[in-house]
Amino acid sequence: MTYVSASATVRPRSPAPSAIAELASGHPVLVHDGEHRIAAIVFAAARLDQADVRFMLEHGSGMICVALSESRAEYLQLPDMLTAADRKFTVSVDADQADSDTVSDRGRAETVRRLAAPDAKAENFIRPGHVFPVVCHEHGVLGQVDLAEAAFDLARLAGVPGQVAAFSRLGDAGGLAAPMTTRVELFAEDHGLASIDIAELARHRLRTEQLVRLVVETRLPTAVGVFDCQGWEGELDGTELMSLRVGDVAANGPVQVAIHPACQAGDVFGSTNCSCAARLEESLATLQDLGRGVLVYLRPSERLGFTECGATRVGPETYLAAAQILRALEVDEVGLINPSAAAEESLRSYGCAVVTGEGIA
Ligand SMILES: [Zn+2]
Repeated sequence: MTYVSASATVRPRSPAPSAIAELASGHPVLVHDGEHRIAAIVFAAARLDQADVRFMLEHGSGMICVALSESRAEYLQLPDMLTAADRKFTVSVDADQADSDTVSDRGRAETVRRLAAPDAKAENFIRPGHVFPVVCHEHGVLGQVDLAEAAFDLARLAGVPGQVAAFSRLGDAGGLAAPMTTRVELFAEDHGLASIDIAELARHRLRTEQLVRLVVETRLPTAVGVFDCQGWEGELDGTELMSLRVGDVAANGPVQVAIHPACQAGDVFGSTNCSCAARLEESLATLQDLGRGVLVYLRPSERLGFTECGATRVGPETYLAAAQILRALEVDEVGLINPSAAAEESLRSYGCAVVTGEGIA
Protein backbone atom coordinates (compact mmCIF):
# COMPACT_ATOMS: atom_id res chain seq x y z
CA MET A 1 0.00 0.00 0.00
CA THR A 2 1.22 3.52 -0.73
CA TYR A 3 -0.02 6.53 1.14
CA VAL A 4 -0.07 9.71 -0.89
CA SER A 5 1.72 12.40 1.06
CA ALA A 6 0.42 15.94 1.20
CA SER A 7 3.99 17.16 1.61
CA ALA A 8 5.84 15.07 -0.93
CA THR A 9 8.31 17.79 -1.79
CA VAL A 10 9.84 17.87 1.70
CA ARG A 11 10.72 14.19 1.99
CA PRO A 12 12.84 12.38 2.98
CA ARG A 13 13.26 14.44 6.19
CA SER A 14 10.09 16.41 6.61
CA PRO A 15 10.26 19.20 9.10
CA ALA A 16 7.90 18.84 12.03
CA PRO A 17 5.04 20.97 10.68
CA SER A 18 4.73 18.71 7.63
CA ALA A 19 4.75 15.55 9.74
CA ILE A 20 2.10 17.04 12.05
CA ALA A 21 -0.04 18.07 9.08
CA GLU A 22 0.27 14.58 7.59
CA LEU A 23 -0.95 12.93 10.78
CA ALA A 24 -3.76 15.47 11.14
CA SER A 25 -4.94 14.65 7.62
CA GLY A 26 -5.07 10.93 8.37
CA HIS A 27 -1.76 9.84 6.86
CA PRO A 28 0.83 7.80 8.75
CA VAL A 29 4.21 9.27 9.64
CA LEU A 30 7.52 7.50 10.03
CA VAL A 31 9.38 8.44 13.22
CA HIS A 32 13.04 7.54 13.74
CA ASP A 33 15.92 8.37 16.04
CA GLY A 34 18.10 10.11 13.46
CA GLU A 35 20.66 7.32 13.50
CA HIS A 36 18.16 4.83 12.11
CA ARG A 37 18.57 2.43 15.00
CA ILE A 38 14.88 2.58 15.88
CA ALA A 39 11.87 3.63 13.86
CA ALA A 40 8.10 3.32 13.99
CA ILE A 41 5.08 3.92 11.82
CA VAL A 42 2.65 6.26 13.58
CA PHE A 43 -1.08 6.73 12.95
CA ALA A 44 -3.76 8.94 14.51
CA ALA A 45 -5.55 6.41 16.71
CA ALA A 46 -8.98 7.94 16.25
CA ARG A 47 -8.89 7.37 12.47
CA LEU A 48 -7.25 3.97 12.30
CA ASP A 49 -8.87 1.50 9.92
CA GLN A 50 -8.22 -2.13 9.10
CA ALA A 51 -5.96 -1.29 6.13
CA ASP A 52 -3.76 0.71 8.51
CA VAL A 53 -3.56 -2.24 10.90
CA ARG A 54 -2.62 -4.50 8.01
CA PHE A 55 0.10 -2.05 6.99
CA MET A 56 1.51 -2.01 10.53
CA LEU A 57 1.42 -5.79 10.84
CA GLU A 58 3.01 -6.26 7.45
CA HIS A 59 5.89 -3.86 8.02
CA GLY A 60 6.16 -3.51 11.80
CA SER A 61 7.33 -5.79 14.57
CA GLY A 62 3.91 -7.43 14.89
CA MET A 63 2.81 -5.48 17.96
CA ILE A 64 0.22 -2.73 17.65
CA CYS A 65 1.05 -0.22 20.38
CA VAL A 66 -0.92 2.81 21.46
CA ALA A 67 0.78 5.88 22.95
CA LEU A 68 -1.34 7.66 25.56
CA SER A 69 -1.05 9.89 28.61
CA GLU A 70 -0.97 8.65 32.17
CA SER A 71 -4.30 10.35 32.88
CA ARG A 72 -5.93 8.60 29.89
CA ALA A 73 -4.58 5.24 31.12
CA GLU A 74 -5.95 5.96 34.60
CA TYR A 75 -9.31 7.05 33.21
CA LEU A 76 -9.60 3.82 31.20
CA GLN A 77 -8.37 1.80 34.21
CA LEU A 78 -5.35 0.36 32.47
CA PRO A 79 -2.91 -0.71 35.19
CA ASP A 80 0.81 -1.15 34.53
CA MET A 81 1.72 -4.54 33.20
CA LEU A 82 5.43 -4.02 32.79
CA THR A 83 7.90 -1.25 33.40
CA ALA A 84 11.16 -2.06 31.67
CA ALA A 85 13.98 0.20 30.50
CA ASP A 86 11.91 3.27 31.44
CA ARG A 87 9.06 2.01 29.27
CA LYS A 88 5.67 1.64 30.87
CA PHE A 89 3.30 -0.83 29.19
CA THR A 90 -0.16 -1.16 30.65
CA VAL A 91 -2.14 -4.37 30.57
CA SER A 92 -3.02 -5.21 26.94
CA VAL A 93 -6.61 -4.73 25.76
CA ASP A 94 -9.27 -5.60 23.21
CA ALA A 95 -12.43 -3.62 22.60
CA ASP A 96 -15.41 -5.54 23.97
CA GLN A 97 -17.18 -6.22 20.67
CA ALA A 98 -20.46 -7.98 20.03
CA ASP A 99 -18.95 -10.42 17.51
CA SER A 100 -15.83 -11.08 19.64
CA ASP A 101 -13.78 -10.39 16.51
CA THR A 102 -10.86 -8.88 18.40
CA VAL A 103 -7.82 -10.41 16.72
CA SER A 104 -8.64 -9.48 13.12
CA ASP A 105 -7.37 -6.28 11.48
CA ARG A 106 -10.85 -4.83 11.80
CA GLY A 107 -11.10 -5.84 15.46
CA ARG A 108 -7.75 -4.33 16.38
CA ALA A 109 -8.57 -1.12 14.52
CA GLU A 110 -11.79 -0.89 16.55
CA THR A 111 -9.80 -1.40 19.79
CA VAL A 112 -7.36 1.36 18.88
CA ARG A 113 -10.12 3.78 17.85
CA ARG A 114 -11.97 3.11 21.06
CA LEU A 115 -8.87 3.84 23.15
CA ALA A 116 -9.01 7.33 21.64
CA ALA A 117 -12.79 7.81 21.68
CA PRO A 118 -13.98 10.71 23.83
CA ASP A 119 -16.88 8.60 25.16
CA ALA A 120 -14.77 5.49 25.87
CA LYS A 121 -15.20 3.87 29.27
CA ALA A 122 -13.12 1.38 31.21
CA GLU A 123 -15.77 -1.31 30.79
CA ASN A 124 -15.48 -1.11 26.98
CA PHE A 125 -12.28 -3.17 27.14
CA ILE A 126 -11.33 -6.78 27.79
CA ARG A 127 -7.97 -7.35 29.49
CA PRO A 128 -5.62 -8.87 28.32
CA GLY A 129 -5.95 -8.36 24.56
CA HIS A 130 -4.09 -7.80 21.30
CA VAL A 131 -3.33 -4.06 21.53
CA PHE A 132 -0.58 -2.73 23.79
CA PRO A 133 -1.03 0.71 25.39
CA VAL A 134 2.14 2.55 26.42
CA VAL A 135 2.03 5.33 29.00
CA CYS A 136 4.09 8.28 27.78
CA HIS A 137 6.15 10.80 29.70
CA GLU A 138 4.03 13.85 30.52
CA HIS A 139 6.52 16.11 28.71
CA GLY A 140 6.62 13.88 25.61
CA VAL A 141 9.93 13.91 23.75
CA LEU A 142 11.18 16.71 26.02
CA GLY A 143 10.90 14.27 28.92
CA GLN A 144 11.89 11.03 27.21
CA VAL A 145 13.45 10.55 23.80
CA ASP A 146 11.59 7.53 22.49
CA LEU A 147 9.25 6.43 19.74
CA ALA A 148 6.16 6.32 21.98
CA GLU A 149 6.73 9.91 23.14
CA ALA A 150 7.25 11.04 19.54
CA ALA A 151 3.97 9.36 18.54
CA PHE A 152 2.21 10.94 21.53
CA ASP A 153 3.58 14.43 20.75
CA LEU A 154 2.64 14.17 17.09
CA ALA A 155 -0.92 13.15 18.04
CA ARG A 156 -1.19 16.05 20.49
CA LEU A 157 0.24 18.59 18.04
CA ALA A 158 -1.97 17.28 15.24
CA GLY A 159 -5.07 17.71 17.41
CA VAL A 160 -5.91 14.01 17.28
CA PRO A 161 -8.89 13.25 19.57
CA GLY A 162 -7.79 11.96 22.97
CA GLN A 163 -4.17 12.76 22.01
CA VAL A 164 -3.73 9.08 21.29
CA ALA A 165 -1.49 7.59 18.58
CA ALA A 166 -1.12 4.04 17.30
CA PHE A 167 2.37 2.93 16.40
CA SER A 168 4.35 -0.10 15.46
CA ARG A 169 8.10 -0.40 15.51
CA LEU A 170 9.84 -1.28 12.29
CA GLY A 171 12.00 -4.33 11.89
CA ASP A 172 12.49 -7.55 13.80
CA ALA A 173 11.87 -7.16 17.52
CA GLY A 174 11.57 -3.46 16.88
CA GLY A 175 15.24 -2.95 16.03
CA LEU A 176 17.04 -2.16 12.82
CA ALA A 177 20.46 -3.68 12.28
CA ALA A 178 23.39 -1.38 11.58
CA PRO A 179 23.75 -2.22 7.86
CA MET A 180 20.13 -1.11 7.40
CA THR A 181 20.81 2.56 8.03
CA THR A 182 19.23 3.64 4.78
CA ARG A 183 16.25 1.37 5.19
CA VAL A 184 14.18 3.86 7.11
CA GLU A 185 14.38 6.56 4.46
CA LEU A 186 13.89 4.06 1.65
CA PHE A 187 10.85 2.69 3.42
CA ALA A 188 9.42 6.21 3.79
CA GLU A 189 10.17 6.89 0.12
CA ASP A 190 8.67 3.63 -1.09
CA HIS A 191 5.45 4.11 0.83
CA GLY A 192 5.06 7.85 0.37
CA LEU A 193 5.39 8.61 4.10
CA ALA A 194 6.57 11.81 5.74
CA SER A 195 9.39 11.01 8.15
CA ILE A 196 10.71 12.83 11.16
CA ASP A 197 13.65 12.52 13.48
CA ILE A 198 12.70 12.57 17.20
CA ALA A 199 15.34 15.25 17.85
CA GLU A 200 13.80 17.48 15.18
CA LEU A 201 10.40 17.08 16.83
CA ALA A 202 11.96 18.09 20.17
CA ARG A 203 13.56 21.15 18.54
CA HIS A 204 10.24 22.08 16.98
CA ARG A 205 8.58 21.98 20.41
CA LEU A 206 11.34 24.04 22.00
CA ARG A 207 11.02 26.61 19.22
CA THR A 208 7.25 26.89 19.32
CA GLU A 209 5.90 26.07 22.78
CA GLN A 210 5.67 28.19 25.90
CA LEU A 211 7.61 26.30 28.56
CA VAL A 212 7.89 29.01 31.20
CA ARG A 213 5.07 30.29 33.38
CA LEU A 214 4.82 33.82 34.77
CA VAL A 215 4.57 33.52 38.55
CA VAL A 216 4.91 37.08 39.79
CA GLU A 217 5.38 40.59 38.42
CA THR A 218 6.53 43.59 40.40
CA ARG A 219 8.49 46.84 40.16
CA LEU A 220 12.09 46.90 41.30
CA PRO A 221 13.74 50.26 42.06
CA THR A 222 17.54 50.09 41.72
CA ALA A 223 20.45 52.54 41.90
CA VAL A 224 20.26 53.01 38.12
CA GLY A 225 16.48 53.19 37.75
CA VAL A 226 13.21 51.29 38.06
CA PHE A 227 12.66 47.91 36.35
CA ASP A 228 9.51 45.87 35.76
CA CYS A 229 10.55 42.58 37.26
CA GLN A 230 9.05 39.18 36.34
CA GLY A 231 9.47 35.88 38.19
CA TRP A 232 9.07 32.73 36.04
CA GLU A 233 8.95 29.04 36.62
CA GLY A 234 10.26 26.52 34.09
CA GLU A 235 7.41 24.11 33.25
CA LEU A 236 9.74 21.19 32.62
CA ASP A 237 12.01 21.35 35.65
CA GLY A 238 10.50 23.93 38.02
CA THR A 239 13.59 26.18 37.88
CA GLU A 240 13.11 29.77 39.03
CA LEU A 241 13.94 32.42 36.47
CA MET A 242 13.77 36.20 36.49
CA SER A 243 13.68 39.05 34.02
CA LEU A 244 14.07 42.82 34.42
CA ARG A 245 12.39 44.91 31.77
CA VAL A 246 12.57 48.56 30.82
CA GLY A 247 10.05 50.14 28.48
CA ASP A 248 7.72 48.49 25.99
CA VAL A 249 9.55 45.52 24.50
CA ALA A 250 6.63 43.71 22.86
CA ALA A 251 7.16 43.55 19.08
CA ASN A 252 8.13 46.76 17.22
CA GLY A 253 11.68 45.92 16.26
CA PRO A 254 14.86 44.67 17.89
CA VAL A 255 15.17 44.81 21.65
CA GLN A 256 18.51 44.96 23.49
CA VAL A 257 18.90 41.96 25.74
CA ALA A 258 21.43 41.01 28.40
CA ILE A 259 21.58 37.37 29.47
CA HIS A 260 23.08 37.12 32.92
CA PRO A 261 23.69 33.75 34.59
CA ALA A 262 23.32 34.17 38.35
CA CYS A 263 26.69 34.27 40.09
CA GLN A 264 26.36 34.57 43.84
CA ALA A 265 30.09 35.08 44.37
CA GLY A 266 30.24 37.94 41.88
CA ASP A 267 26.71 39.45 41.89
CA VAL A 268 26.22 39.45 45.66
CA PHE A 269 29.68 39.52 47.20
CA GLY A 270 31.61 41.25 44.41
CA SER A 271 34.11 38.44 43.93
CA THR A 272 37.14 39.63 42.00
CA ASN A 273 37.64 36.16 40.54
CA CYS A 274 35.13 37.03 37.83
CA SER A 275 33.65 40.11 36.18
CA CYS A 276 29.97 39.21 36.82
CA ALA A 277 29.24 42.08 39.25
CA ALA A 278 30.62 44.75 36.93
CA ARG A 279 28.89 43.21 33.92
CA LEU A 280 25.53 43.08 35.70
CA GLU A 281 25.82 46.70 36.80
CA GLU A 282 26.83 47.81 33.31
CA SER A 283 24.01 45.86 31.65
CA LEU A 284 21.38 47.36 33.96
CA ALA A 285 22.75 50.88 33.39
CA THR A 286 22.81 50.33 29.62
CA LEU A 287 19.19 49.20 29.61
CA GLN A 288 18.14 52.27 31.60
CA ASP A 289 20.09 54.55 29.23
CA LEU A 290 18.37 52.94 26.25
CA GLY A 291 14.98 53.16 27.95
CA ARG A 292 13.99 49.81 26.39
CA GLY A 293 15.33 46.29 26.89
CA VAL A 294 15.45 43.17 29.01
CA LEU A 295 17.92 41.53 31.36
CA VAL A 296 17.27 37.81 31.74
CA TYR A 297 18.66 36.55 35.04
CA LEU A 298 19.03 32.79 35.11
CA ARG A 299 19.73 30.54 38.02
CA PRO A 300 22.00 27.62 37.17
CA SER A 301 20.16 24.33 36.81
CA GLU A 302 22.99 22.56 38.62
CA ARG A 303 24.01 23.44 42.13
CA LEU A 304 26.97 25.81 42.08
CA GLY A 305 29.90 25.61 44.46
CA PHE A 306 29.57 28.31 47.14
CA THR A 307 32.12 30.62 45.51
CA GLU A 308 31.88 29.27 41.97
CA CYS A 309 31.16 31.70 39.15
CA GLY A 310 27.75 31.18 37.53
CA ALA A 311 29.04 32.28 34.13
CA THR A 312 31.07 29.08 33.97
CA ARG A 313 27.85 27.05 33.91
CA VAL A 314 26.26 28.51 30.82
CA GLY A 315 24.92 25.81 28.55
CA PRO A 316 22.17 25.21 26.01
CA GLU A 317 19.55 25.12 28.77
CA THR A 318 20.58 28.67 29.77
CA TYR A 319 19.75 29.96 26.31
CA LEU A 320 16.62 27.85 26.06
CA ALA A 321 15.31 29.51 29.23
CA ALA A 322 16.29 32.94 27.92
CA ALA A 323 14.59 32.29 24.58
CA GLN A 324 11.46 31.14 26.38
CA ILE A 325 11.28 34.26 28.56
CA LEU A 326 11.90 36.56 25.60
CA ARG A 327 9.11 34.86 23.68
CA ALA A 328 6.77 35.20 26.66
CA LEU A 329 7.62 38.92 26.78
CA GLU A 330 6.75 39.09 23.07
CA VAL A 331 10.22 40.18 22.06
CA ASP A 332 10.36 39.63 18.29
CA GLU A 333 14.00 40.40 17.59
CA VAL A 334 16.96 40.34 19.94
CA GLY A 335 20.15 42.42 19.94
CA LEU A 336 22.62 41.08 22.50
CA ILE A 337 24.33 43.54 24.85
CA ASN A 338 27.18 41.09 25.40
CA PRO A 339 27.17 39.19 22.10
CA SER A 340 28.90 35.89 21.57
CA ALA A 341 28.73 33.39 18.74
CA ALA A 342 27.57 30.66 21.14
CA ALA A 343 24.73 32.81 22.52
CA GLU A 344 23.58 33.87 19.06
CA GLU A 345 23.65 30.35 17.69
CA SER A 346 21.85 28.85 20.69
CA LEU A 347 19.16 31.53 20.79
CA ARG A 348 18.53 31.13 17.07
CA SER A 349 18.22 27.36 17.47
CA TYR A 350 15.44 27.99 19.99
CA GLY A 351 13.57 30.23 17.62
CA CYS A 352 14.86 33.69 18.63
CA ALA A 353 15.56 36.14 15.82
CA VAL A 354 18.96 37.54 16.80
CA VAL A 355 20.10 40.64 14.96
CA THR A 356 23.65 41.91 14.92
CA GLY A 357 25.40 45.14 13.99
CA GLU A 358 24.86 48.85 14.59
CA GLY A 359 21.59 50.63 15.11
CA ILE A 360 19.69 47.84 16.78
CA ALA A 361 18.80 49.77 19.91
ZN1 LIG B 1 30.83 35.23 38.25
